[in-house]
Amino acid sequence: MPSPDARGLHQPPETLTWLAPPAGPWRGPIPVADIDSAPFWDGLRRHELLILRCRECRTFVHPPQASCPRCLSLDPAPEPVSGRGTVYSFTVANREFAPGIVPPYVVALVDLVEQESLRLVTNLVNVSIGDVRIGMPVRVVFSDLELDGEDATLAYFEPDHGGGP
Ligand SMILES: [Zn+2]
Repeated sequence: MPSPDARGLHQPPETLTWLAPPAGPWRGPIPVADIDSAPFWDGLRRHELLILRCRECRTFVHPPQASCPRCLSLDPAPEPVSGRGTVYSFTVANREFAPGIVPPYVVALVDLVEQESLRLVTNLVNVSIGDVRIGMPVRVVFSDLELDGEDATLAYFEPDHGGGP
């Protein structure tokens, strides 16, 4: 990894990579589930990507919430999705915004293939930062975390080169 220049910036970004899972023990925050997001986090622990889906109008709902934004039904239920999508947008973090999450890394919005604008906030991994493009196909990869007796699994995304699962 290149060392920071005089302004503290890592240059040039084209050469930087962040591979999953990040090396060494996790030092960042552990996500805390609420009643609406618990099925999402529980699914990730089993390495399943579950998205709430309205049982009335079949609309996927994410981020998790108690009601369907389309028909206002109060009955969304978790369903497995393919874990495949495309990069809607992204940015590169070059400073340590959260303790223990070491830059540089890519923060991305990924649109899942199941529904238009069904979008997750995530990190891109197993890719050179300079190779990331809007619209590139990606697939989910799971990263198990443990810190001080608490655990969680995060859903990252990596380039999908069209191979098998
Ligand atoms: Zn609905």
